[in-house]
Formats: sequence, structure tokens, C-alpha cells
Amino acid sequence: MTVPSRQPGLYLHVPFCSAICPYCDFAVMRAGESIRRRFVDCLIAEVPLAAGAWPDPRPFDTVYFGGGTPSLLPPEDLARVLDACRTHLALASPAPWVFLEANPEDVTADACAAWRRLGVRTLSLGVQSFEGEALRFLARRHTAAQARVAVEVAHAAGFDTVSVDLIFGLPDQTSEAWLRDLQAAVALAPGHLSCYQLTIHARTQLGVRAARGLIAELPDRDQAELFDLTHRFLADAGWPAYEVSNFARGPDHESRHNRKYWDHTPYLGLGPSAHSFAVGGMAAHPGRADDSGAVAAGHRWWNEPRLRPWEHRVAAGERPVAGEERLGPLALATETLMLGLRTTAGVDLDGFAARYGLDLVAANDALVTSLVREGRLCVRSGPEGRRLVPTVLGLAVADGLAAAFDLPLP
Ligand code: SF4
Repeated sequence: MTVPSRQPGLYLHVPFCSAICPYCDFAVMRAGESIRRRFVDCLIAEVPLAAGAWPDPRPFDTVYFGGGTPSLLPPEDLARVLDACRTHLALASPAPWVFLEANPEDVTADACAAWRRLGVRTLSLGVQSFEGEALRFLARRHTAAQARVAVEVAHAAGFDTVSVDLIFGLPDQTSEAWLRDLQAAVALAPGHLSCYQLTIHARTQLGVRAARGLIAELPDRDQAELFDLTHRFLADAGWPAYEVSNFARGPDHESRHNRKYWDHTPYLGLGPSAHSFAVGGMAAHPGRADDSGAVAAGHRWWNEPRLRPWEHRVAAGERPVAGEERLGPLALATETLMLGLRTTAGVDLDGFAARYGLDLVAANDALVTSLVREGRLCVRSGPEGRRLVPTVLGLAVADGLAAAFDLPLP
């Protein structure tokens, strides 16, 4: 795995979509052009407000336009937002790595050229499936043919990484149908793939249909089979996993931005519902983050989730923060374990001991022995030190694994 940069990342949330997908539980909405224009003005106004309170002097080396569907905004608006960020925040020189999420139906050669001029290096495409039936069930607005063309057009435009998002675990989905999706994706040779397991959330259209008994989630055993198929097929094809849902054709295609969420690198989020994380902020544990990644205390906060309250507070010259939490050593150690066990790099045991004063394996000897025997974990020693690494079986239940550990910090 590439050595993580410790420079912070910047996330910009665009909450608009042309239609709301029946499975989506993100903070998104449909809106006309005037609302979208007002949103961009507010996002630009939020930048200096956030900059004034951001404690980390290091330049942001990633900028991520996520959502929602940021490709719905005209490139000129994205450029205005980036200009405001350059004016008020320290961005890496010569340029940060810019990510843009786009839906296949928005991808044209002209749009790609404009995004490239903005400095976009990773284009992330919400394809979800190459199967007509699955696309209809997910109520996507593109066809399989459009998705293929979008990937090809993005490749031709010269993005460093084209990423394809897929969803598996649809009701009644067979392993043959999912395998066809995976084969279709690798045939297009994207640099990066994300494969998310469908979750039916109660307050979505699919949730309502499930509550009425009109659809049923795929049984756990079938879900587990598809998860296993995904990891084994993609590893054999040359896209090994580096995180539970993320696969890359080589370390250079791994997401420099998302990795920050998994290793306590600071990030600043702007826009409704965006989350931020910085180190420090506790009087008893003055924060520090150095090149070794040592973090003694953390501070997480999040913006107003809904558009109007977020806009009102920004218009009043206030930071639109809706809530915050302070993270001491136990909370950070718990997250380090939980997030580490979701990655194929696992948990750095020596770093964990140095940071939190606990030998994780010694403190959980019987548990680790039994998880190693079950083939869910292994303890590896190498040039990068001792690491606790999940296997594919372990990744499938990563959150449960982490919850089973005791963390008796001194
Ligand atoms: S396009 Fe993505 S963000 Fe928008 S509604 Fe669909 S799933 Fe949600």
C-alpha cells in the first residue's frame, strides 16, 4: 500500500441529484437551477468561515467533490468553488488531487475536457450495474450501453484514474448475474472499482417496499457468497481489495482522499451534512499529528444536514456546524482498530502500542488465536512491522471482529 500522506483533505458536498434513487439514504434532493446557483454562492461563502476555524496549517493535497451528483453543477461553478478554496485555504502546490463524482449520463467529451481543465484527476462514475434488469430495479437514469460509453469517454479524456461504482446483493440477484457485472467492469479496465453491498434503509423507497413485503433482502448466506466472489474474482483479475468495498489496479489508483477517513488524517468538509476531523481540541490531551501518524486527541464536527438551515447560517456569517464530538485515546483507539480491520493493510500493531500504550494482540490473546484459527485474521511481521490483517473471511465481518476486542488502555 502507498505510504499515506499526512496532509489534510478537503471534501465539498453537492446535495443535488436529478432524481432520488430508491435505495439512497444520503442527504440529497432535487432542485432547479436557481436553487443550485444559490447553493454554489453559499458554498463559496462557507470557505472563509471554515478557513478561519481550521487548525491545521498543512496544505490540502486532495479535494473531493462528492454528493449527491456534483457533475450536475456547471464546470464554471465548480471552478468558482475551487477559486474560493485557493484564496482562503492552503492547497498543495502545484495542485491538489481533485476527485469528482459523476453519473454516466452527465459524461460527455466536452464535460470531461472541462473537468480536466479544472484539475480533476479521478473521475468516479456511479455505474452501479451493467445489467438492464438491475439498473431498472435501482431506477438509474442510464443504460448499460451509456455506462460503457461513459467509461470509454473518461479514459479517452486522460483522467489519471477512472473509478466505477457497482452495487451487489440486490433481491434475487444470482452469482452468475453479479459475475457478469464484474466481468463487464474489468473489461473496461478502470483504475479503481468500488463494490458496495446493497443495504435497504427503512426511510427509502426500497425500505417502504420491503416493509410492505413487496421485496426482501437477499439472505445473509447469499450476500456472503457474493462478497466472497467479488474479492476472489477481482484479486485474480488484477484489482485486489485495499478496503472492504474498494479495489484498485495498483497502489497509484487507490483513493488518496478516502484513505484519510480510515487513518485519522484530518479532513475539512464543506456543504450541508459534511463532516470534518482535526487533531487536538482536548485540554487534557493536546493533539498532535506528525509524519508517523500519531494522534493523541481528535475533534469531529458536522454541518447542518439540510440545505435551508445550512444556507441560513452561512448567510448570517456563521459556521453552519450542527454538532461535534471530542475523541480521547479510547475513542481513537477503537476507531483505529475498527477502520484498520476494514483495510487489507490491517492494524499497525507497533504503531498502536506506541500511540495507545497497549499491545493489542497480548491483551486479546485468546480472541486473536481463535480468529486466526478460523481463518479470519493473521498476524504478519515484515519490513512495515507487525500488523493484524483481516483475510477475505475477516473483511466480510470486519465491524463484528473489531467489536469483539477489549481495549484496556493504561
Ligand atoms: S445518484 Fe447517488 S446520491 Fe443521488 S440519489 Fe442516486 S444514489 Fe443517491
